[in-house]
Amino acid sequence: SYLAKCCFPYLTSTDPACKIEVPERLTVSHETLVRTGLADRCVSVPVREATDAEILLAHSEEYLEAVKKTPYMSLEDLMEFTRQYGDVYFHPNIYHCAKLAAGAALQLVDSVMTGKVRNGMALVRPPGHHSMRSAANGFCVFNNVAIAAQYAKQKYGVQRVLIVDWDIHHGQGVQYCFEDDPSVLYFSWHRYEHQKFWPHLRDSDYDIVGKEKGAGFNINVPWNKVGMENGDYLSVFCHVLLPVAYEFCPDLVLVCAGFDSAIGDPEGEMCATPDVFAHLTHLLMNLAGGKLCAVLEGGYNLTSLVQSVCQTVQTLLGDPVPRPASLKSPCISALESLQCVRSAHKAYWSCLKHAGNHNRAFSRAFKGPEAAGV
Ligand SMILES: [Zn+2]
Repeated sequence: SYLAKCCFPYLTSTDPACKIEVPERLTVSHETLVRTGLADRCVSVPVREATDAEILLAHSEEYLEAVKKTPYMSLEDLMEFTRQYGDVYFHPNIYHCAKLAAGAALQLVDSVMTGKVRNGMALVRPPGHHSMRSAANGFCVFNNVAIAAQYAKQKYGVQRVLIVDWDIHHGQGVQYCFEDDPSVLYFSWHRYEHQKFWPHLRDSDYDIVGKEKGAGFNINVPWNKVGMENGDYLSVFCHVLLPVAYEFCPDLVLVCAGFDSAIGDPEGEMCATPDVFAHLTHLLMNLAGGKLCAVLEGGYNLTSLVQSVCQTVQTLLGDPVPRPASLKSPCISALESLQCVRSAHKAYWSCLKHAGNHNRAFSRAFKGPEAAGV
């Protein structure tokens, strides 16, 4: 029997706003979910616009007021407005779409928190994790997941929220929102290449662990090489995220579910296959009594995106996860990142207390006999 019900809010709007960033990302994902029968097994949750008060949970009044004016701007003014931010494009209808994207995430949180569904995925555009308190950035207008986390805390008295950002970019907007907040544990892995990859922030490195009371509650795993595979992803999950997550003991898990971390994506250039997301999802479903809300972020290779979305939804529905094909041990670069993160966090988490001391043995165990002694 399928205990897990997946809710599935989506933007059906054929709004021209959504043309600025390929709408096929949603339509093809949705069509495939329908064709494979997965959509039928999901509870569809109606979408609504996020209210001003909800948007203000993660954004400043000045910023919201500025975005509100965009539907009435001339094309010229819009371009001028856009130029003050990084890598984001404003269309007259993006304000409406962005309110729907945030609202969809909130509808999903409501459905999960009230027990209407066990877990779910919100397929939304524009994405959210790069947008900051007072700035749009990287295709993102409102920070859907950050708003959802604040909303869950405020409306349902949730005490601890885990945000897992498996998108291949650093969700710096989420980090900035919660860096001094110990009630939200933010985990992000991201293509970094020693700061050579966008958004080129020193703040994305492993030693940025959070501030003040929030120290230890921000976990950055920088990928310093492209081509990371399933084994690299799974080892970081198993040796960093999961031990800390169990110790943190969240009441709710939110996922910044970007799939540009999958093979074939022009942004990520990684080699993890879509079925790895079945495993990542499955591993997170044991936390927070299964209360998990995944919200779409990036993912620009349509084939890879669609397969990854299906793997995620299928797993949320309770289907058995596929056997991982030829799982290799992590590469040296991934091991280095992993060890750096564990060391940076050992003061904050008792599960990592011995991280530094065991690094040598740990890497030897992973690399196998030929690499022993490195
Ligand atoms: Zn991304």
